[in-house]
Amino acid sequence: MADRVLAVRGPRSLLRQIREVMAGGDAAQARLDQVVKIIARSMVAEVCSLYLRRASGDMELFATEGLKREAVHVTRMGPNEGLVGEIVRLGRPLNLTDAPEHPSFSYREETGEDPFHAFLGVPLLRGGRPIGALVVQNRTARVYAEDEVEDLQTIAMVLVEMVAGGELVGLAELKDVEIAPHKPERLIGARFADGLAFGVAVLHEQPVAPEKLLADDSALEETRLHRGLQLLREQIDEMMEGHHLVGQSFDVLETYRMFAHDRGWNRSLEDGVRSGLTAEAAVERVRSEHRARFAAARDPYLRERLHDFEDLADRLLRILAGQAPGARNLPDNAILIARNLGPADLLEYDRTKLKGLLLEEGSTVSHASIVARAFGIPCVGRLPGLRDRLSQGDPVIVDGETGEALLRPRADVIEAFQSRAAVRAQARAEFDRLKDTPAVTKDGVRITLLMNAGLEVDLDNLDMTGAEGIGLFRTEFQFMVAEQMPRLSAQTALYKRVLEAAGDRPVTFRTLDLGGDKVLPYLEAEREDNPALGWRAIRMGLDRPALLRLQLRAVISAAQGRELRVMFPLVSTVEEFRRARALCDQEIAWAARRGRAAPNPLRVGAMIEAPSLLFHLDALLPMTDFVSVGTNDLMQYLFAADRGNPRVSERYDPLSPPALRALQSICEACTATGTPASVCGELAGRPLEAFALIALGFDRLSMPPAGIGPVKRMVLSVDREAARRGLAPLLKGAGGSIRNEIETLARKLNVAL
Ligand code: PEP
Ligand code: MG
Repeated sequence: MADRVLAVRGPRSLLRQIREVMAGGDAAQARLDQVVKIIARSMVAEVCSLYLRRASGDMELFATEGLKREAVHVTRMGPNEGLVGEIVRLGRPLNLTDAPEHPSFSYREETGEDPFHAFLGVPLLRGGRPIGALVVQNRTARVYAEDEVEDLQTIAMVLVEMVAGGELVGLAELKDVEIAPHKPERLIGARFADGLAFGVAVLHEQPVAPEKLLADDSALEETRLHRGLQLLREQIDEMMEGHHLVGQSFDVLETYRMFAHDRGWNRSLEDGVRSGLTAEAAVERVRSEHRARFAAARDPYLRERLHDFEDLADRLLRILAGQAPGARNLPDNAILIARNLGPADLLEYDRTKLKGLLLEEGSTVSHASIVARAFGIPCVGRLPGLRDRLSQGDPVIVDGETGEALLRPRADVIEAFQSRAAVRAQARAEFDRLKDTPAVTKDGVRITLLMNAGLEVDLDNLDMTGAEGIGLFRTEFQFMVAEQMPRLSAQTALYKRVLEAAGDRPVTFRTLDLGGDKVLPYLEAEREDNPALGWRAIRMGLDRPALLRLQLRAVISAAQGRELRVMFPLVSTVEEFRRARALCDQEIAWAARRGRAAPNPLRVGAMIEAPSLLFHLDALLPMTDFVSVGTNDLMQYLFAADRGNPRVSERYDPLSPPALRALQSICEACTATGTPASVCGELAGRPLEAFALIALGFDRLSMPPAGIGPVKRMVLSVDREAARRGLAPLLKGAGGSIRNEIETLARKLNVAL
């Protein structure tokens, strides 16, 4: 009779009973035993068992009602063994009328499981990861109804929260269970922005796990859910209307809108609140199920869809929490954890509190890393599974020097890290002192040290580092962090501010270098199999002359009759440069017709990034006012190794005879024709590489701001003639990297590296 009553009262009453037992004063194991008993009774099942996953991956029976008690903490299944293994592997429920018939069924004598046929098991999901399973069984070949599956999932979710929330503390066997990661972990990713930071994890857009799982008033929760969904749809409609989208970006948002109206998603949420959860808990539960289901999907389209659902869930949770879109609270030493960040996301955080950034995905040219570098905060990316390994508030170290993330580091690791950070701060203080010292080698060669920039926030670095100007202003960054194409007025305004901040110092504007991996959501572009070799940079500019001319108009107008330096990216033929320069001349003529002063002097240059130009410098150089070697791209094309693919990008060393000889030939051709030449790839900012460049004969280097200090210290300690003499024989070598040999040479010459 009592069983009946419980079953009829439904999951809300059951959940309350579970909570009472868990909060009670019994020993942890006794409480768990009680809980499975209550669940079995409520579901009118003869068996209810709880399995949790150990660190080894084995699933261990933690409590049972109906199976033999001796099997508890004895029965263990391998990660892929049995029906329980199947649930965990697939991350979804298994509902069987005749379990022993199932191919994965594995009989364990010690449990006395033999006579049970009907089987319903659901995964225990934490952060989308299955960490165990909850199973009910019946002797007869009964069919569990859809709402019973729902109920068991709700119970599983509540159990996970309780166990992870520490309600079973004291249960010895729990120590080794993967409830929430608690051990220190070292993850190796990719360096996106240099620097070191120690702080606490803040999960981006991850609203804190719902505080309240069980609804006091289900009808009210249903109303809240419906109102939230309504607001969500309105927000998306507004986003679509506000941005006048076309092409792919419209399609993306349209798909997003479709998901917001998706009946299945809406229904699952409703089922959640009807089973007694709060609206927030229902969103979390449905999200966990989606994650588990899609996580195994290989298909990139499906994985993207998961991201759409995740974003929707985040948005909905923010709405339910009453947060205005964009509100962001941070502790003082926040390390932001995200899968990836959109163009404006990072800009919404308080820069003074943000100490570091860890991303699951991204690349060195993704929005987040560009902005992180501009903010001067270290960023490490390509850390798959990061968010599941961290809880809000976990201590974290971001090591932007080595590209590592240390989660929950031990005290001695923190100490070692802090002393490294102190050494770094000391070095910075030394660079600070050198800020106003001109970079002259010991034998009197003046080296010009310039910095690379792309956003307004970079401009502070001019004074902070003592850079002598901007050798590369990447104009596409303004386009990349914007939600829509910057108009002529916005482009002109930015260029004016850059020129004002630079004052007498020269600025070289590089025209749009889009395409490749720098894609804009609002600019339609076809998918290409080989984007790095595709429709990018000046190729795009020449095919869309209106876009390029608009930009040239903006820089010409910003110069207001003063000096203007413009260069074109990825020039591959002399003809391309000629055509680009002609567009520039047309714009000068256009300005003249309107009575505007022409820039004076106007210097037009080419970036040397395509190896083809190396064999046509005799034709190119007389047409240019200067050249700048973009070694990031030149090396990728020279070695045919994608600069963004970590598997190959560090496979070939620029400090090797073929690469250095290529650079030497450029330097020699420029010296012979009197063409000013600079190097503006990342390597110009690393002391050893800069040492080699100076030895080759380069005297203008443009680099990330953080490189100026260390490179200047190196320049001051070097004798260029001795370096040249020392490097020459090394260039003749037949081997690959000559990094060690160059380092030995530098040390022999007492160069400060
Ligand atoms: C380069 O390729 O070296 C360069 C400076 O341009 P970017 O890194 O912007 O492609
Ligand atoms: Mg380039």
